[in-house]
Amino acid sequence: MSTRTRSRRTYGRAPLKLSSLNPANINLAQASIVCPECDTWRRIVGTTDLKLVGHERGKSDRCPGGNRQFEVDLTPDRWLARLRRQQLDALSPETRRAATQHYKPVPAQPGPVHLMAASRPEVEYTAGQRIEQARKRMEQWKKLQDEVKDANGRRAEPLVGAVGPIRGIEVPKKTLHPAA
Ligand SMILES: [Zn+2]
Repeated sequence: MSTRTRSRRTYGRAPLKLSSLNPANINLAQASIVCPECDTWRRIVGTTDLKLVGHERGKSDRCPGGNRQFEVDLTPDRWLARLRRQQLDALSPETRRAATQHYKPVPAQPGPVHLMAASRPEVEYTAGQRIEQARKRMEQWKKLQDEVKDANGRRAEPLVGAVGPIRGIEVPKKTLHPAA
């Protein structure tokens, strides 16, 4: 590990957690996310010591999102589930019902590794454990690359029979209660 990488400025901020991002702004098939600072797709670099690649914002400013450390605390399954949830939430209730059958059911969560993904803020991990965790998580993402690519591709296609987002968005304004 080069000392040059280590000494780079990280702006003294806590690592960015994948789980804190909009699922539509994550593409780990290509190891990139939308930088929360400049709203532009940027690559994640590093193998165990993950960072968002250093980049500029606008013409010459260094973006404070660059070199930010990174926590891969989201499994591919969870990301996919969040993305689907978000897509369904953007549809009208009728379209949502119709659209649900176009989705494959979210696969069952894997065992022990997934349990590590559950956020347990009271647990303090050592640096070594964190690196090991990040490595395992990236392995998971790599294994599911085809599925992730497929999901990324599908979000660009309109759902069959779906109403466009402008006409379709209709959020219930009062609490819904199931019929007795
Ligand atoms: Zn940025």
